[in-house]
Amino acid sequence: VLQYRDVRKLYGDFVALSGVSMEVERGQVVCLIGPSGSGKSTLLRCTNALETLDGGELLFDGVPLPRDPASIRKVRQRMGMVFQNFELFPHKTAIQNVMMGPSTVLGLSEQQSRARAEALLVKVGLSDKAGNYPANLSGGQQQRVAIARALAMEPEVMLFDEPTSALDPETIGEVLNVMKALADDGMTMVVVTHEMTFARRVADHVVVFESGQIIEQGPPAQIFDAPIQARTRDFLGHLG
Ligand code: ATP
Ligand code: MG
Repeated sequence: VLQYRDVRKLYGDFVALSGVSMEVERGQVVCLIGPSGSGKSTLLRCTNALETLDGGELLFDGVPLPRDPASIRKVRQRMGMVFQNFELFPHKTAIQNVMMGPSTVLGLSEQQSRARAEALLVKVGLSDKAGNYPANLSGGQQQRVAIARALAMEPEVMLFDEPTSALDPETIGEVLNVMKALADDGMTMVVVTHEMTFARRVADHVVVFESGQIIEQGPPAQIFDAPIQARTRDFLGHLG
């Protein structure tokens, strides 16, 4: 579904990504790991065209990402994005947050949007919190609403940028469980995470970044149990 070929991204003359080549196949979960500042978020931002490339190619379904705003909007609709800080609309309830995309962007009726949102809240285990405002939800619950909101657009790919790193330890598991269930459903997912247990259990492919480059990629068994690169071992070793 996603092919990255020698992707390069600059901020001024700072090289944020260079020589990045990888692939995400339909139904796969690909985890991106690596130290802070290594370019993981930048790669996600390039993926949904929040940033333009300075070199190389990024193909979505075999087609290079477009540059004109109207086509970019269409591409973005086909990718759901979940951030570290859920970014729900504070003055809307959980279900209103989930309904908004379907009703305003997809043009579904109120009734259709509501039905879709209700089903998704069930899926993320929050049917009893539909009427709560974000302020009255725990961090893990807010993040699950954010996931439901992204899913409401029926994306082909879900992009997650450290979805659990702003959460209290006791709510991390509920979010990871929802993500695991999504993966089991066959959703294509690109996940930036520091949750190595999740990466090991759920990822089909793990990509290790350092200083804007991929230093190693492969199946979790290789990356975690038999890394080829000393730098991968160093990085994983630092995590303890
Ligand atoms: P973290 O784990 O801390 O989230 P990351 O791997 O996601 O790190 P990125 O956010 O992709 O790292 O940043 C990669 C590098 O690019 C960093 O050195 C960062 O300072 C730089 N960078 C990111 N965005 C910009 C920007 N808009 N302008 C200039 N430099 C930027
Ligand atoms: Mg980041």
